[in-house]
Amino acid sequence: MDRPSLAELDRAHVWHPFTQADEWEEDDPLVVERAEGRWLFDTRGRKYLDACSSLWVSVHGHRHPTVDAAVRAQLDRVAHTTLLGLASGPSVQLAAALCARTGFDRVFYSDSGSTAVEIALKMAFQWHAQRGDTGRTRFAALAEAYHGDTIGAVSVGGIGLFHAVYGPLLMDVLRLPCPNGPDDGEAAVAVQRIEAAGDTLAAVIVEPLVQGAAGMRMHGREFLEPVLTAARRVGALTILDEVAVGVGRLGTFLATEQLDHEPDFVCLGKGLTNGYLPLAATLTRGRIYDGFRGDHGRTFFHGHTFTGNALACAAATACLEVFEAESTLDNVQARSTQMGSILREVSALESVASVRQKGMMAAIDLTDTQPRAGHRFCLAMRSRGVLMRPLGNTLVLMPPLSITDEELLFLGTQLVGALSG
Ligand code: PMP
Repeated sequence: MDRPSLAELDRAHVWHPFTQADEWEEDDPLVVERAEGRWLFDTRGRKYLDACSSLWVSVHGHRHPTVDAAVRAQLDRVAHTTLLGLASGPSVQLAAALCARTGFDRVFYSDSGSTAVEIALKMAFQWHAQRGDTGRTRFAALAEAYHGDTIGAVSVGGIGLFHAVYGPLLMDVLRLPCPNGPDDGEAAVAVQRIEAAGDTLAAVIVEPLVQGAAGMRMHGREFLEPVLTAARRVGALTILDEVAVGVGRLGTFLATEQLDHEPDFVCLGKGLTNGYLPLAATLTRGRIYDGFRGDHGRTFFHGHTFTGNALACAAATACLEVFEAESTLDNVQARSTQMGSILREVSALESVASVRQKGMMAAIDLTDTQPRAGHRFCLAMRSRGVLMRPLGNTLVLMPPLSITDEELLFLGTQLVGALSG
């Protein structure tokens, strides 16, 4: 008897994330075998440009020699040791490098964007409580927010399709309006709601400048800064979830660098290890850390088994080094401009309703609003050698930050071809 193929075994045993089983089984799965730079190769030997950075994680490209070497070298020392009661070289080096790069003082490690957010929420609540501010029991979050899939992160999330079913399980969160485009009075309403909530608020959490999973909804400083300033005025802490926009995506290492606001927490994940290993970081200030000193009972009783994994930290430190060695942020500037011209060309096409872009994050809304139009378009792009993943009927362009001008030209040509077809 023939051995079952990988595709058959996948259908039989893998439960895919954010995927409807009936829809998944309609198509033949593409099985990735290997990768090189910005390109993925499937088990049939076909080659695809990774235009979604393997779901927004690949910063310098796959199999980057510096990151590969750092992981291999660490593997020859030790793969993992716990941070509960022990220190480890890779976790120390990465924390020091992240603090030097961002101006934060402390790094708390975990292994996904969701956990980085949970940690910030719990730290904010406990910090207030330990100062005697026990009435600060609520969080404020933006409409259409996405902060991850654990229950705390879902509570602050606001995407009906993903989150409504869990309603009975969630915390009561103060919802703030958020524009998609220039501020149209949303900031004033949000500020007023924050002021009304006053000293019941533990923290305000936002995805700064781009609400990724909501469909790449984009807002500007003129909306965000008054909201964050109001949070601070009422004594609430500010949490900037940079899981999607951080690590260079918007042209600065942190998106926060583009704001006149110094947040209490920044959450990083995704691109931190160049997508090699699951690692997330909650960055915070010395004054927050100091609020947990004292009696044993004031400890932050939180930590995951793989917190500060040595291989992941080694990959992340190497990833930071490559930012310097390859002047990655300069490439982001140049490629963002090039993406801008592609989007101008695309926006003139009949199949396109609107486009938007910040740095190397861009969205194309299709005029076709039939169910799964975005998915069908991405299948057409796949046959043209480009891998993308849509958000509903919005196409997402999130190529690796190291993409070359030729590769971006290829992406643009295929995009215009498929959208014109
Ligand atoms: N926050 C934001 C802004 C995100 O985009 C995501 C993931 N798309 C998360 C949190 C959750 O990250 P993870 O999937 O690693 O849990």
